[in-house]
Amino acid sequence: MRKSLILLCAMICAGAINLSAQTKVIAHRGYWNTAGAAQNSIASLLNANTINCYGSEFDVWMTADGNLIVNHDDTYKGKKMERATAKQISNFKLSNGEQMPTLQQYLEAGKSTNAKLILELKSLSTSVLETEAVEKIIAMVSSLGLNDQMEYISFSRHAVEEFIRLAPQGTPVYYLEGDLSPKELKAMGCTGLDYHIDVFRRNPQWIGEARRLGLKVNVWTVNSLKDMGWCIAYGVDFITTDEPVMLQGLLEKN
Ligand code: MG
Repeated sequence: MRKSLILLCAMICAGAINLSAQTKVIAHRGYWNTAGAAQNSIASLLNANTINCYGSEFDVWMTADGNLIVNHDDTYKGKKMERATAKQISNFKLSNGEQMPTLQQYLEAGKSTNAKLILELKSLSTSVLETEAVEKIIAMVSSLGLNDQMEYISFSRHAVEEFIRLAPQGTPVYYLEGDLSPKELKAMGCTGLDYHIDVFRRNPQWIGEARRLGLKVNVWTVNSLKDMGWCIAYGVDFITTDEPVMLQGLLEKN
């Protein structure tokens, strides 16, 4: 008993456990796992807000004619997102009957919510296209007056660097790939680590390192009670999940 108490104190002192902050819930592709919703639909964004999630994550592509749309996969019903036109996309229906949203429609809906809008720009086929997409996103967000509600994430290192360069100072920007240490992310200007849980299981020391460097820690996509418990014990700042209600229930018990 005494030994475990000493170990717990040592972990807290080392910054591996943060008892002061409550882990926040981010709905992965919105709160879609419920009747009438679909991944990346406006309904799932509104649902995430209704259950008071900290944020709602969604994925963005840019079409061949330079329009921004919300969808996860690079292909939908046989059509590549990057080769489609906005007109073609407008014919696509999601599984809940909603039209596949443009980014403009999605952000306009998000404006009526209290949820942070966690925008993931998918890795596009060239860095030039990624820069164009980031410029368009920042301009659209600004014109809608949404700067303070946004957070940006990407697997593309170039896109992350462009968000850091072009978004208003202080806007949260996270990198998803999992191959950079907290120190490297800090040097890039990232707000923190937004990595798959397996990356943190392999490198649990990164959680304490991130905290010492003033970086935030977000873990995805955490859907089991066991994994949620592991993340909460480490006091991570954010958990991104397909099961936000389950996670909220667990956090209430902690
Ligand atoms: Mg995503």
